[in-house]
Amino acid sequence: MPESAEEVYARVVAQVGVDGHLPMPAQGGWDIFPWEGTGLRPRVVEPPSDEPPRHGEGDRNCSCTGSPAKGAIWANDRWEVRAPGQPGGLPLVVNLCPLEHLDFEDLDDDMAAEFGLLSVWLHRIISRMPNIGRVHVQKIGDGSAHLHAFFIARTARMTNILGSPAVDWDEILPAVPEDIWRADLAYVAKHLATHGGTALV
Ligand SMILES: [Zn+2]
Repeated sequence: MPESAEEVYARVVAQVGVDGHLPMPAQGGWDIFPWEGTGLRPRVVEPPSDEPPRHGEGDRNCSCTGSPAKGAIWANDRWEVRAPGQPGGLPLVVNLCPLEHLDFEDLDDDMAAEFGLLSVWLHRIISRMPNIGRVHVQKIGDGSAHLHAFFIARTARMTNILGSPAVDWDEILPAVPEDIWRADLAYVAKHLATHGGTALV
């Protein structure tokens, strides 16, 4: 029988009590851990409750309309690539999303196949840009029930902005100048459109 949230929580309480803090993980000592100092500690683990509602399920609306969103940089009849409203500290962070209100497990085989192709194309285009060291791909989805896979590019040769913590640096580093960011988005959209669909920027 898979372990329940109550059993996980009971194990936490057995180690540190109801209000206790678990110890810092080994990750805190990694060279690529973005934070330093002696005051860091994990938050107190809260007892299990209901799953928090996400945008696009129950009575919470999703902003999707079936058409490309305001921030879309590329779209075809079924998919769009969205950029945030402003640049962050990493060179590029974009989302691949279906136009229809679908989550990952809702994709039929044709949509799943197209998701795979678009993901590889998008990854290849961004990772071949001369300033990019790596592209990280994430699908999380605790905030919205509308699939929004992340493609997160980090700058090459910045040697402690690596691995999964690279994502945190998007909010730490000074923002990329907007003209450079917009030119990079247009480059990605133009190259993705060579596989079909339309560049929107
Ligand atoms: Zn939606």
